[in-house]
Amino acid sequence: MNASHELDWKDIVHRCFRCGYCKFTEDFLDFNCPSYKNFRYETYSTGGRMWLIYGLISGEIEWSEGAANAIYACPTCGNCIENCRFDKFKDFLVDFIELARVEASKAGFTPKKQVNLLKRIENPEMNNPYGELNSDNENLKKKYDLPDQAEWVYFIGCTSNYRQKELRDATIKFLKKAKIDFTLIDEHCCCSPIIRTGQVDPVKNFINYNLLKIKNTGASKIITSCAGCYKTIKKDWLKFQEVLGIEVFHTVELIKDLMDNKKLKFNSEYKKKITYHDPCHLGRHMKFYDVPREVIKNIPGVELVEMKRNRENAWCCGAGGGVKIGYPEWAIETSRERLEEAKSTGASIITSICPFCRTNLTDANEHYDMNLQVIDLLEIINNIGYTIIN
Ligand code: SF4
Ligand code: SF4
Repeated sequence: MNASHELDWKDIVHRCFRCGYCKFTEDFLDFNCPSYKNFRYETYSTGGRMWLIYGLISGEIEWSEGAANAIYACPTCGNCIENCRFDKFKDFLVDFIELARVEASKAGFTPKKQVNLLKRIENPEMNNPYGELNSDNENLKKKYDLPDQAEWVYFIGCTSNYRQKELRDATIKFLKKAKIDFTLIDEHCCCSPIIRTGQVDPVKNFINYNLLKIKNTGASKIITSCAGCYKTIKKDWLKFQEVLGIEVFHTVELIKDLMDNKKLKFNSEYKKKITYHDPCHLGRHMKFYDVPREVIKNIPGVELVEMKRNRENAWCCGAGGGVKIGYPEWAIETSRERLEEAKSTGASIITSICPFCRTNLTDANEHYDMNLQVIDLLEIINNIGYTIIN
């Protein structure tokens, strides 16, 4: 089965047993579906949601605001994929939720706040979900003396380019120091926010635009510091486009490679206790667990401590899938639970490799006065200071 937007998924949704495993951690000791844990109503777990979806697509239930709310109140964290016991079916659970959102969009039931994401991304003066004027990145290219033609494109991503500029700048400095032959493009949104919320009509055009810009630079590789861009470009674009013709990397892979080849030397120790938060779109969705942990362990002086729920069982930060814009209070409440878990390890720092997780965790940290330091791993490395031995 191929979970493309053309598949006959409507025949498969009803195969859910409604056994309910999908809302727990693997040891069944805690609810690990943020949606069910918050709403405590079966329709807000995957089992119930699959049956609602079946009713909606078979016409037995009519679309309504209430039905759409149950379809959209899910950060697409993928815990249900990990814990569903039905092997051939489970890999597509989040795809089914996103495909149901496509149906909601066609029926005119995408909630207004999520529709705003589409309006901003489609606005030719913006092309990003934050509603900022498009940064064509020409000034950045000049500032950092970047060429027009290069082997790599650093795909900054909207969150880093408009909300987490420290991460963007730390990434550019890192790539320059590592003597990576890279450039920037006048990028438009990778489309993660509108794919997640089922508003897919313009996606193919956006992919074609970005791919053309990348190919015009002569690049064959993309590097990004964003978990959302990484998963979207590497996995979701292939649902709309048969072949990409480019390789996709996360910055942390390059850091690990330099460390393995003894080319990265830290200028000082960093005597801190750190815990690592797995971004759902890198962890469960891309099985990307070890590389960031190995990088952290290689920083001299650092003690890495794990939260009780980690890797496949990680508790979501609560921001994904359109939840941050659609349900802002619930989004930070979900992050509050993550920060409490981080605090219970004795760590003073929670790090991750996703600017969107960082935004939501930071918002919760400030709102609930949690007194933790929330910082991206690349920024930690930038702050310690390092030498690249070429
Ligand atoms: S999605 Fe899987 S685990 Fe959840 S109720 Fe259905 S069959 Fe059971
Ligand atoms: S993706 Fe996450 S929040 Fe959504 S139903 Fe599955 S476990 Fe629950």
